[in-house]
Amino acid sequence: FKKFFEIKVFPLKNIQNYLIIMHDVTERKMADQMREDFVANFSHEVRTPLTILNGQMQALKLNLEKKPEFSAEFKPTFEKIDNNSRRLINLFNDLLRLTSVEKKKDLEREEVSLEMLAETLADEIAHNYPNKKIHFSFDFKVPTVMVDYNLFEQVMINLIDNAIKYSKNEGEVKISSSSQENSTMIEISDNGVGIPEDQHHRIFERFFRVDASRSSEIEGTGLGLSIVKHIIQKHDGKIKVASRPGGGTVFTISLPASK
Ligand code: ADP
Repeated sequence: FKKFFEIKVFPLKNIQNYLIIMHDVTERKMADQMREDFVANFSHEVRTPLTILNGQMQALKLNLEKKPEFSAEFKPTFEKIDNNSRRLINLFNDLLRLTSVEKKKDLEREEVSLEMLAETLADEIAHNYPNKKIHFSFDFKVPTVMVDYNLFEQVMINLIDNAIKYSKNEGEVKISSSSQENSTMIEISDNGVGIPEDQHHRIFERFFRVDASRSSEIEGTGLGLSIVKHIIQKHDGKIKVASRPGGGTVFTISLPASK
């Protein structure tokens, strides 16, 4: 039976003593763990049959497409089934990603080339948006970072995907790194739709989506940035946003330089 404590240490003025406050947080930790386990198990259980259903639906569609009456009669219905099952699969995939980050204890850090990672991902992700013309530019003054490859790749995927997704039909996406005091700064910027100032503090919350994205055609789960924030925090880093509607968005990650 494990117990968890939060310990706060306060140096006392004038005398060489410390005030130490220990707070028993076992109950909260246990509740968090139960929630994480439940969400992970549930997502896993739902994703499997959902993926099978989706596969069956695709097979049925392929068969029906051969029939001349397909377009008029079945196409709109299949498009709806297709969109909605994709949304559900994306949702459960994101939930599984979020819980696996929450549960992850030890990072497996390695030296990762920012240039290789960012350029490969930008190219791959841009292919998912065939109707958008995005111009990428890269400038890596700090070439590598010591990070957990799989987790950090997820950060870059989510931020680059958002940069393209929330761009207009033509857009500029810049990815760069630089050194500042004891930190490595990594910036992902776009010149897309932007985010109203009063929503900046909420975008990293689970399921939060800015109204405009919610009501528009832009698909999303609202989990991408909370996954990003969790991963960056696991690396003892920080992430912040600078953005205004119509003026594009800049996400800046800072990671301790030595790590
Ligand atoms: P989503 O799945 O909705 O993209 P995220 O957690 O990745 O979820 O982002 C939360 C919200 O923040 C989005 O719904 C969108 O409104 C806003 N957002 C994130 N990235 C950008 C960006 N690069 N440009 C404009 N808005 C963004």
